[in-house]
Amino acid sequence: MTRLALAFDLGGTELRGALVESDGGVVAQVSAPTMAIAGSDAVIGQIIALAGALLTQRPKADVVGIGIGAPGPLDPKAGIVIAPPTLAGWHDVPLIDILGKHFGLPVRLENDANAAALGEWRFGAGQGTGSLVFVTVSTGIGGGVVADGHIYHGRRGLAAEIGHMTITGEGDRCFCGAVGCFEAVASGTALGRRATALTAPGDGSLLRRLSADGDVSARHVVEAARAGDISALELIEAEAKWLGIGFTNLLHLYSPDLIVMGGGLANGFDLLAPTIRATVEQRAMPAYRDVPIVPARLGDRAGLIGAASLILWEGEPGAPLAMATC
Ligand SMILES: [Zn+2]
Repeated sequence: MTRLALAFDLGGTELRGALVESDGGVVAQVSAPTMAIAGSDAVIGQIIALAGALLTQRPKADVVGIGIGAPGPLDPKAGIVIAPPTLAGWHDVPLIDILGKHFGLPVRLENDANAAALGEWRFGAGQGTGSLVFVTVSTGIGGGVVADGHIYHGRRGLAAEIGHMTITGEGDRCFCGAVGCFEAVASGTALGRRATALTAPGDGSLLRRLSADGDVSARHVVEAARAGDISALELIEAEAKWLGIGFTNLLHLYSPDLIVMGGGLANGFDLLAPTIRATVEQRAMPAYRDVPIVPARLGDRAGLIGAASLILWEGEPGAPLAMATC
């Protein structure tokens, strides 16, 4: 019988679960809106309920363990979710311990962006590389770094918080309190905010027509740019420049074989790519300029598939736990 892992992707708005095979195939998937303000007990109850729903769909599944991607900060080795800003009432929750006792199965925990990086590395755009940086650009900017065949964790698993590297001294304040974070200037939210500021309700612009005269989102900008709208194309150009600056920093810091861009804004990757590439050519030192920058391949399943691989790849070369024990 095929070995399967139960995988969960715990987000601030959506909790998703899946049964995943060792080749990365998803055989069953369920989801529920996260009870994000109800505290940790309620959400853990949701995880248990979703696991029940998955096992009802596949009653004969040979489940060998549970892998979870959850928002940081968290400690993957100790299995503790420390204090995620998107989940109320979570303070030092020993998630591995709680779920391990409930299910009697091994449980592995990883930061959600790291889990997505693992998914793309093992089964998606990064297959076959030794080092990659995965960047997710959506509401915020997150990332995961695979360095020489291992997820790079750093102290308490807190490494690669790339959304909060400072790349300018100006601009809107980031939710973290600082000014000039990568996320504050280059996230999908920042792009939507610039588009909203550039236009006004009722001005007849394509951006406002697409948003029904409400706030313009990054999705609207991509849609308008595809239709050839000049303002949208200029916004995309500015966005791509910020991304290119951030990616140049990542090239210099981590020297990956590949940068993989995921998240909602990856839907506009083809529009952004020429200016991202031109900015890297302009700013990176020559030795780093030929590193490919590619869109993610697994979409919003990267985190689930990566979380499952924490269990299914355990003990295999390149598995993160190999690093934890040496
Ligand atoms: Zn910040």
